[in-house]
Amino acid sequence: MPPSPRLVVGNWKMHGLREQSGRLVRAVAEGAQSLPDDVRLVLCPPFTQLASVHGIINAEGPSTPLRLGAQDCHTTSSGPHTGDISAEMLADLGVRYVILGHSERRQAHGETDVLIRQKVEAAEAAGLIPIVCVGETIQERLEGRTTTVLATQVEGSLTDGFTGILAYEPVWAIGSGTIPPIDELERTLSLLHGLLQSRLKTDDIRVPILYGGSVTPAQAPTIFSIGSLGGVLVGSASLEAESFLRIAEAA
Ligand code: PGA
Repeated sequence: MPPSPRLVVGNWKMHGLREQSGRLVRAVAEGAQSLPDDVRLVLCPPFTQLASVHGIINAEGPSTPLRLGAQDCHTTSSGPHTGDISAEMLADLGVRYVILGHSERRQAHGETDVLIRQKVEAAEAAGLIPIVCVGETIQERLEGRTTTVLATQVEGSLTDGFTGILAYEPVWAIGSGTIPPIDELERTLSLLHGLLQSRLKTDDIRVPILYGGSVTPAQAPTIFSIGSLGGVLVGSASLEAESFLRIAEAA
C-alpha cells in the first residue's frame, strides 16, 4: 500500500513573474479537481509569488488538493538578517511546507547539515512541514560513497523528533533527464528508511520519502510503481501545468 496521501511537490526554483505564475496555478487548480482524493499538490513558488499563489489556492476552497510551500527559510524568527525570510513569516502568509537543504542551496550557498538542521528546527517551531533534501553528487556516486553521504546528511540535517518529509534527490539526476535505475532507487529508499530508523531511534517511521531529479510525465508511472514511495519532488516539469498534472495522475 502506498503511503497516503501521495505528495507531488512542484519546486519552481527562481522562475515565475506574476502573470505567468497566476496562469500556471489556475491551470493546475482546474486540472487538480479530477485527481484522486489521496494526492496532494504542493506548489513552491519563489518568495515573491507566495502571497498571490496563496490567494488563488485559498479561493479554491477547503477541499482543494493544492498546498503552498516555500523553497527556503532562515534559522531564526526575526532579527537583523538583511534579505532573509523567516519560517514564521512564511507561516503568516499561509505557507504549509518548506523545502530545506536543496542541493542548489547546499552548493551555491554553502549550506551545511548543521545549518539545515537549524532551519528545520525553525520551520517546525513555526508549524511548517519541512521537506529536507538529501542526495549524492556524481563524484560521490562514482567513488561508491552514496551510503556514507546519505547517512551523514540524514544524521546531520534532521532534528531528533523529525516529523517532516525526506526527499531523496541524487544531485546528478537533477535537470539531467536521467533517473536512477528503478531497482537501485528501491534499494536507496529502503536504505533511507533504515537511516531514518536509526536517526529517529524508532522502528515506527512515519516520514514520507519523496524522489526528486528529472521526474517527467514519461518517467512518473515507473517511479510511482515503487509502493513505498511517499511522492515526488518535481523541478522543471512543474513549470507546465499539463506536465505537472500528468505526473500527479500517475501518483
Ligand atoms: P528537476 O529538478 O525535476 O528539474 O530535475 C528537481 C529538483 O531540483 O528539485
